[in-house]
Amino acid sequence: VSTTAASVSSCDLCRTDGGEVLWRDDFCRVVLVGDPDYPAFCRVIVHAHVREMTDLEAAERMRLMQVVFAVEAALRQVLAPDKVNLASLGNVVPHLHWHVIPRFDNDRHFPAPIWAAPARASGVAPTLDRTRFRELLVARL
Ligand SMILES: [Zn+2]
Repeated sequence: VSTTAASVSSCDLCRTDGGEVLWRDDFCRVVLVGDPDYPAFCRVIVHAHVREMTDLEAAERMRLMQVVFAVEAALRQVLAPDKVNLASLGNVVPHLHWHVIPRFDNDRHFPAPIWAAPARASGVAPTLDRTRFRELLVARL
């Protein structure tokens, strides 16, 4: 893994948790993003300043996806969303992270991605029961 001191010191996901931490181990963390339109929008963030999935060792890739899938499964159990969106972009912050976004057919952008123009003035997406979510997540990890 190649990182430079400059890229790390200017990186939001190195300098901050990137949200309210719901779970962490020594490899990665699960945070609530805090988006008012999507209160259950989670991110899985690798602690190291890694740019691409293929910068990780094979076992690390497997572990990261295991956490992403555990978050997805726990969100499905708690919220029963109409769809779950998984995305890894990193164009703005090139520090490896996955978005896990429970979607509802009356949320602000549905059926478009949450980064598109809103489909309606105000959407409805439920908040997350953090305690229940954490229990279900930990049970899968
Ligand atoms: Zn970083």
